Amino acid sequence: MRLQGTMQVNEEGRLTIGGCGVEQLARQFGTPLYIFDEAHIRENCRQFYQSFGVAAGYSRVIYAGKAFLTTAMCRIIASEGLGLDVVSGGELYTALTAGFPAKDIFFHGNNKSYAELCQALEAGIGRFVVDNFAEMELLSRLAAERGQKARVILRITPGIEAHTHKYIRTGQIDSKFGFTLPNGQAMAAAQRVKELPGLEFKGLHCHIGSQIFELEPYSQAAATMLELAAQIKAATGLITTELDLGGGFGIYYTNEDRPCSIREYAETILGRVKEEARALNLPVPQVIVEPGRSIIGPAGCTAYTVGTIKEIPGVRKYVAVDGGMTDNIRPALYGAKYEAIIANKAARPPVETVAVTGKCCESGDMLIWEAKLPRVEAGDILVVTATGAYGYTMSSNYNRLGRPAAVLVYNGSADLIIKREDFNDLLRNDVLPPRLSNPE
Ligand SMILES: *Cc1c(COP(=O)(O)O)cnc(C)c1O
Repeated sequence: MRLQGTMQVNEEGRLTIGGCGVEQLARQFGTPLYIFDEAHIRENCRQFYQSFGVAAGYSRVIYAGKAFLTTAMCRIIASEGLGLDVVSGGELYTALTAGFPAKDIFFHGNNKSYAELCQALEAGIGRFVVDNFAEMELLSRLAAERGQKARVILRITPGIEAHTHKYIRTGQIDSKFGFTLPNGQAMAAAQRVKELPGLEFKGLHCHIGSQIFELEPYSQAAATMLELAAQIKAATGLITTELDLGGGFGIYYTNEDRPCSIREYAETILGRVKEEARALNLPVPQVIVEPGRSIIGPAGCTAYTVGTIKEIPGVRKYVAVDGGMTDNIRPALYGAKYEAIIANKAARPPVETVAVTGKCCESGDMLIWEAKLPRVEAGDILVVTATGAYGYTMSSNYNRLGRPAAVLVYNGSADLIIKREDFNDLLRNDVLPPRLSNPE
């Protein structure tokens, strides 16, 4: 069990985050409750900002909004000097509503719609990460019609061999994302960008996967992408001034996880880019990274109230909490592992191994299969740590559970940043056709 960020166990043996007692937060805001540690979010942003040399202009750090995005989060990200990745009109709308500078927004996605491209052009966003030829043609036409130049980065599928690195999920050839490198599609894409009006080529992008603990795949991706940059320069004269190597930096969820430090990632990536660019006689491009999970994951946790407990002697003890797969689908979706702590028994040593389950009607509705905890009782406040990334953003209303609230804690104060959904919210989009309105 690792205490993340500003988490502490106080003299009474109770868990605090950002100087706020977790039990008080649970009482004030209810459970389940997402708790975000602002100091920790900012610390993670600064680690990236400093390690990658953003101030000196070597790099840009673009937060991947899909990990967790609300208007409050946009404000924090902007104030730390980071840019923002969006992948939909909804994320873009959130960012613009929060006043996020449009020039610092990157637009990703393998199926951007006509309406989304128009919305992004109207807002004047910084970069379009173009994924495929259809998007490129459409973007060119829409930008040219408006007399605009869309600044374009091409998403490349580098075909980095997956057999040695099984965690690489999005860099392999068989992927829905991007222009394939080995079969010549990537080069053809560069040629087409040059021909089309309304587009300005800025550089290349790849994202090799997520929750990656090793340095080598990033180093390899940097080298592969620079070789492509050299070929593109030779064939078209286009210069890759920006090299976007995506996100995917691994974090600590459980003691099986051994992430590298941000500094190690930065040194490896910046070092290899410089070295390869020199070797290929290319200008050193500005490096872009897109961390999502590593900024927000460890800085968020979820507090639940323990309800029923079912013990099957010799088999397993199930501890049910008042949320589950609706607020954290990751264990059910891909076997993600977490640790937990009981806020009101935070100083007590673990004495039993229990399965923490949710309240949804699915046997797969599990949060933790094997949690080592002090003796658990109904009414305990159980906190699952490192749920900040892909928890709220993947949440659902399955079983008509309302989505939980989220609070931002900082220096002893707690502010609501997402309201809890109530029954009215659940009915908001229901429509009753007139012929069903008057029961006989
Ligand atoms: C998901 C994603 C990221 C962020 O990944 P993390 O694992 O959260 O760091 C960055 N870039 C792209 C293109 C992505 O799809």
